[in-house]
Amino acid sequence: MMGSKNLKAVAVRGTKGLKIADPEEFMVLWRQFYEYYTKGEGRYFIASISEGTGVGATMDYYRDRDLAVWGNYDSFVVPPLKKDEQMESFEKYLVGGMGCSFCPAQCHQMYDVDGVRGGIHCGGYAGFHWVVKNKDLKVWWRLNQLCQRYGMDLYSTAGMTAWLMDLYENGIITAADTDGVPMEWGSEEACRTVIEKIARKEGFGELLVDGIVPAAHRIGRSSIQRAVQFRNQIPFPGFAPIGGTVGLQLMGGTSEVWVHPTAADIHSFYAWLAPRLGVSEQEAENIVNEKASDFAERTTGDRDSWREDGWEHYADYGIVNETAISACDISGHCDWLSDRCPHLYAWWSPEENAQAISAATGTNCTTEMLVDAHRRRRLLELAYHQLCVRAFGEQEEIALKMLVPRPDGHFKGATIDIEKALQVLSRYCELMGVDPATKLPLRSEL
Ligand code: SF4
Repeated sequence: MMGSKNLKAVAVRGTKGLKIADPEEFMVLWRQFYEYYTKGEGRYFIASISEGTGVGATMDYYRDRDLAVWGNYDSFVVPPLKKDEQMESFEKYLVGGMGCSFCPAQCHQMYDVDGVRGGIHCGGYAGFHWVVKNKDLKVWWRLNQLCQRYGMDLYSTAGMTAWLMDLYENGIITAADTDGVPMEWGSEEACRTVIEKIARKEGFGELLVDGIVPAAHRIGRSSIQRAVQFRNQIPFPGFAPIGGTVGLQLMGGTSEVWVHPTAADIHSFYAWLAPRLGVSEQEAENIVNEKASDFAERTTGDRDSWREDGWEHYADYGIVNETAISACDISGHCDWLSDRCPHLYAWWSPEENAQAISAATGTNCTTEMLVDAHRRRRLLELAYHQLCVRAFGEQEEIALKMLVPRPDGHFKGATIDIEKALQVLSRYCELMGVDPATKLPLRSEL
């Protein structure tokens, strides 16, 4: 978005400091948080995202378990990689971790690769790597840094590039459509050209700046059928949504930003955790699943609601999840270390957020008030999406590629049961007070 506006950055710096209404209470909360993540079970989550290459280290687990997206969601098996093509080998370039003040995770990794220096976090590891079928980690790193320096989102830029490569491979576009540069899989020139053209809004880049759906409508030739998106948002590129997550994503505006799909990383977490606990991977799976089930029972009344193929109460779990994320957004707490990821041993619920707001501001913010604030915000957002559809003609397109049976990989043969996905959607509407037909908030909720 910033690239399309020729905007590089927005920098805001305050000079007056922060005033805490009740510093003692605030420090009590802080210590609970810090001790959970340094001495309690949360230390496992912290280590999994900050040891060595951090989140990047789990990429090799994704690959080994056939969970990674290879290409534009056509395969979930990464071809065998040589040692120097594996993320683990990248540790030699690591300068160190960094992150936000006072956070025990310091989850960003800083690298210096032949003089190309910078940082990376989370989904960037999957960006210009698997989805564009690039095995060269130095190329991956250069593209990441180019994207970062333009202030462009790595997920969507890499996803857009993968889509163009898919279209090129299938003869839907030719090099003439991309200013003479063939969109060949794994090509650094192709990736670099897409980044530069979008950033400068030049040539075919102008076609892409409003996102994948408007671009597909302009290109035509059935290109929309190969666009992987939910409401014009390209999903996290390391994982294709399954089960109930698809149901929630059919709800306009719901994406991985709002609901963290458990299947996205729970399988790699089993593998990562097993040696740390000194147990087999199967035992680690049982332990982690039990923990996720305890959380699900406590918050939704159904031990299986966290399972994306559980369908029946997945919308209930989704709402708990998006509420946890939103409560963090409102309070200014990092949602990464919150009830967003109970399946990874993370913790910090709306209740703790409400207590922190009360201590910081001196107001009496209850959990109910915070949850209600989230709910109202969410309803407004859903209403706004409908305004965009009806008044501004933004079309909702279903990601057809997400609905075909998995050809290979960990979830080989898994299909999306569209009827069940629609049931998840309608349960979400029922719980949130939204009319499932119009997708508008009910009058009684406003
Ligand atoms: S606050 Fe969140 S984003 Fe910042 S370093 Fe900690 S875990 Fe990472």
